[in-house]
Amino acid sequence: GGSLLIYDRIKELCEEKGLDVCVSLQEEPHGDNIGLKKSGCHGFCEMGPLLKIEPLGILYIKVKLEDCKEIVESTIMNNEIIDRLLYKINDVTYRKQEDIPFYKKQTRLVLENCGSSDALDILEYLAKDGYEAFTKALFTMTSKDICKQISESNLRGRGGGGFPTGRKWEQVLRQTEPVKYIVCNGDEGDPGAFMDRSIMEGDPHKMLEGMMIAGLATGSNTGYIYVRAEYPLAVSRLMAAIKSAKELGLLGEHILGSDFNFDIHINRGAGAFVCGEGSALTASIEGKRGMPRVKPPRTVEQGLFGKPTVLNNVETYANVPLIITKGADWYKSIGPENSPGTKAFALTGNVNNTGLIEVPMGTTLREIIFDIGGGVKNDKEFKAVQIGGPSGGCLTKEHLDLSLDFDSLKKVGAMIGSGGLVVMDENTCMVEVSRFFMNFTQNESCGKCVPCREGTKRMLEILERIVHGDGTIDDLDLLEELGDTISKTALCGLGKTAASPVQSTLKYFKDEYIAHVVDKK
Ligand code: SF4
Repeated sequence: GGSLLIYDRIKELCEEKGLDVCVSLQEEPHGDNIGLKKSGCHGFCEMGPLLKIEPLGILYIKVKLEDCKEIVESTIMNNEIIDRLLYKINDVTYRKQEDIPFYKKQTRLVLENCGSSDALDILEYLAKDGYEAFTKALFTMTSKDICKQISESNLRGRGGGGFPTGRKWEQVLRQTEPVKYIVCNGDEGDPGAFMDRSIMEGDPHKMLEGMMIAGLATGSNTGYIYVRAEYPLAVSRLMAAIKSAKELGLLGEHILGSDFNFDIHINRGAGAFVCGEGSALTASIEGKRGMPRVKPPRTVEQGLFGKPTVLNNVETYANVPLIITKGADWYKSIGPENSPGTKAFALTGNVNNTGLIEVPMGTTLREIIFDIGGGVKNDKEFKAVQIGGPSGGCLTKEHLDLSLDFDSLKKVGAMIGSGGLVVMDENTCMVEVSRFFMNFTQNESCGKCVPCREGTKRMLEILERIVHGDGTIDDLDLLEELGDTISKTALCGLGKTAASPVQSTLKYFKDEYIAHVVDKK
């Protein structure tokens, strides 16, 4: 569990080293026709800092400061490959990024520009057909047309629930209230998850474009992005993206000479996990304490400032331009019919290739962990994977060939959630895993309703007791009873799903709980 918490720090360190490498490369003397570009995240975090050399297509991994001089002199000036900087696995050496198994099995649509574009350069986004979907929607489609196309694509919200996006937009379009809002949830709070962060940092315009299309589709003129303050790079890149879009007349009044006005504001969240819940998020933007409220009214009827609101997450908005440009049928051709498209996952834990991946919905865990992830670290046995963060559940060996999509996961009591995948090996104690997640949700409970406020505390006490060897066999029944009660009676999603990690580990690894209470280990 501890590795989850330090994971973000590892990524930060990698970024710092990457920046050092970048400065050093810049300082090395090189020809005038050679340029250096900083991109967003390539996703192959385990191997960073990464350096891609175009047009050769060479990918160097784990680049260090002391390698920079040699890279410039050998590869850049003389086309000589430095073998030790290439990725190798199973005695095969890979020169090009697209041939590396980690990338080869992926379908990168939402993450397409992450790792290949300069996020701060709007002209690069435009050169890759950026804002084409928005322009098409603005000049050739009505609000109803846009909602219809999104509905027909079967795009489902990537934030966790999988609610049909088009249906949500149609509900907001139907509201007669003249003021409506478009809100983007960038409050990615799950331990081990950083998909939305990479999109905001690596390709912010794609998400902005999706929000602008949502504005056109529902008759809204204002968007808010709620992003974690712990993501300062994401915040600064979003601010820069908004500024450059305004300078080109893509945001503001009379966009591209039309009657459409749209502006986007950024709100920084202060790190409360519960603010990822819709009504707590809108309360926080309003300047109130971020606490969920009873529903109805639903967000589509009375959301931000009491007005009809579209609330989707970063990845959902980033899918929208592709659907508008390429059509609903194209989108539905990827993945299962009821859960089409791709899904970005943050692959972490005891797996060889940790990182950010994007695969078609319906890909199996086996393909993700063994083909893309390169298998379990140190040749250990695969034991389980926690999917969907603290609200999700664990999947075991028997689920390795299960199709990863909203409906299949629901059937086995798990959920995709926002897309965290934490792989665990044979040495992982599942009782400790469940204690870790319960500790997280208990800390993050806002305290508004009794089942969650008190229930998670009691469950955590019991788990602490069991982990420390003071539990009894009756404690297992108590955990099941409390978990059942909390999930049925808590007010919001945080409480309703707080017991999921305990329930799923009790279901699949009860023998480990029993060993703790019987052998007092
Ligand atoms: Fe707050 Fe938990 Fe109740 Fe949600 S379920 S309102 S987080 S106390």
